[in-house]
Amino acid sequence: MTTPARQLHVVFLPFMASGHTIPMLDIVRLFAARDHVTSTVITTPYNAPNITKSLENCKTGTNSTISIHIIPFPSHEPESGLKDGIENLDQVTSQDLYSKFVFSAQLLKNPVQRFLEETRPHCLVAAFFFPFATDIAAKLGIPRLDFHGTGFFPKCAMAVVQQYQPHNSVLSDTEVFTLPNLPHQVKLTRLQMSGAGSADMARFIAVAAQAGMKSYGEIFNSFYELEPDYVQYYRNVLKRKCWPIGPVSLGNRGKTVSDSEHKCLEWLDSKESNSVIYVCFGSTTKFSVPQLKEIALALENSGKMFVWVVNKGKGEESEDEERIQSRGIIIRGWAPQVLILEHRAVGGFVTHCGWNSILEGISAGIPMVTWPVFAEQFYNEKLVTDILKIGVQVGSKKWNVMTEGTFLKSEEIEAALKRIMVGIEALEMRSRAKKLKDLAREAVERGGSSYRDLSSLIHELRSRQP
Ligand code: UDP
Repeated sequence: MTTPARQLHVVFLPFMASGHTIPMLDIVRLFAARDHVTSTVITTPYNAPNITKSLENCKTGTNSTISIHIIPFPSHEPESGLKDGIENLDQVTSQDLYSKFVFSAQLLKNPVQRFLEETRPHCLVAAFFFPFATDIAAKLGIPRLDFHGTGFFPKCAMAVVQQYQPHNSVLSDTEVFTLPNLPHQVKLTRLQMSGAGSADMARFIAVAAQAGMKSYGEIFNSFYELEPDYVQYYRNVLKRKCWPIGPVSLGNRGKTVSDSEHKCLEWLDSKESNSVIYVCFGSTTKFSVPQLKEIALALENSGKMFVWVVNKGKGEESEDEERIQSRGIIIRGWAPQVLILEHRAVGGFVTHCGWNSILEGISAGIPMVTWPVFAEQFYNEKLVTDILKIGVQVGSKKWNVMTEGTFLKSEEIEAALKRIMVGIEALEMRSRAKKLKDLAREAVERGGSSYRDLSSLIHELRSRQP
């Protein structure tokens, strides 16, 4: 007779920003789909309804449950410098508020610690932006798993930059340097480097990176077959414990579609396969009105149909957008991105290279135009274009928090669109992308590499229990 598995209690602390919360909730679902796992998600009042909705009807294993623990977000604390009511990075519109938001979130330390002391879980999975998690977990003698939300290649690239400082050996911000000691030759300029926006923020990122490295190990939304050289580099050279368990969007993410979303998908149903370009720059990036105008012109001149998600910071609908509506759909607000990307009519993706978007594009098997803006997006671009060779660079040259650093003309954008949609080069990229799509699906199926990695992580966490 086999001994019944012990109940495992895992607490998740997602960072309050769509691009961070979405994949962490996917991870919660993956844990909950296994047997004998109690999952608790810590969040704040403003964020709780979305999280509850997103986890509704989630398929759970035998004796597995999900609950939510709500603690107040400290935006009302005088030291936060935030307006009361700001509880999610998606609500933030400036670089200054971006830093204030990240720093205020650190005030969650005490309530999180109290909750852990009261409940004594077996593990804390905390976002990269909560460096305090490593210390409070250590105090309680439980492992903290770090979830940065990016891939192995960008993490390795950032690690070698930190270690060898190759940017200090060039004379100007535009001179190209090579990232040393990586399995591929990857080139970058100082202008594209993942800057942190401000000195305070740079210090914070360094502290968070250190706390991540000191944590028990790291969960990745990636899969071994996508970046095997870099999974090995992470394990063997950087000597880190890590579990690639993605693409997490291929798990049992909710698929309820609203009426307006339906309209977009219905419109796609009427289009030929691989004929439509999907354009979206993630949840926080907002381009200037003149830049939006150039995008509109490029879409018009490309002769292709499109679905364009316009997250405008400033300004009203431009004439250009109105004029080109006949050839596409413009979504202001939240698009059902995964459903759009996976629609057979969509044949190209213009992306800001957020890691989730990259993995969702790969899972859908479509070539990309890469338009990185900030965070680690310039590194992600290199993976797509130089290593995987499933995309082309639009020509973004300068890192800038949340908005374009390089102004791109419609001709440059149009040229990149054509390269992923028309001709031999496009066909070759599409065929490579389709192979990765198949590998992604195999990885998450029972017996696949990501499935097995999650099994071995859960097994390891259980076996640590006294
Ligand atoms: N997303 C979406 N609809 C939108 C914009 C974004 O579903 O209109 C989702 C997208 O599918 C992805 C996440 O939001 O899962 C964005 O994460 P990413 O890492 O790509 O970029 P970030 O928003 O963090 O810059």
